[in-house]
Amino acid sequence: MADTPTAPVVVIGLGRFGTALAVELDRRGTEVLAIDGNPAVVQKLAGRLPHVVTADSTDAEALHQLDITAFHRAVVAIGTDIQASILTTALLSDLGIRDIWAKAVNAQHAGILSRVGAHHVVFPENDMGERVAHLLSGRILDY
Ligand code: ATP
Repeated sequence: MADTPTAPVVVIGLGRFGTALAVELDRRGTEVLAIDGNPAVVQKLAGRLPHVVTADSTDAEALHQLDITAFHRAVVAIGTDIQASILTTALLSDLGIRDIWAKAVNAQHAGILSRVGAHHVVFPENDMGERVAHLLSGRILDY
């Protein structure tokens, strides 16, 4: 699988951020494997995403069974459960996933995610706050 903008993506953690990301990628024609540990969350999304499964992403065997290494791009969208976010990111890194994105809830979390192998760390709330400030400050129409 080449790392083109449409190369498949694994999205782990289907809260508001992970769901919006997975649905938008799918809408744009990127193949998405969406994973969440909560079967009720997975069931709710089954009609909106073609590949959505229940699995604990901190379980190496579960990731192996999902053939995760066939994907070169992954997004860890787990926020509140910092331990699960860090363990998942470390596992993906150990498995050699080439492009790992992870969501952080604070600066300390972000630092640890980088240290355990995330290639990109995003703070949705901070990033959006900065973006709105740029928009409100006038001269820039988009950022
Ligand atoms: P948002 O702000 O995007 O709604 P959040 O920061 O509140 O998200 P969480 O609720 O922590 O995010 O996690 C998002 C999802 O991640 C939840 O649906 C939860 O079930 C899932 N999740 C948490 N731990 C795991 C895990 N170990 N394996 C798979 N999914 C998990």
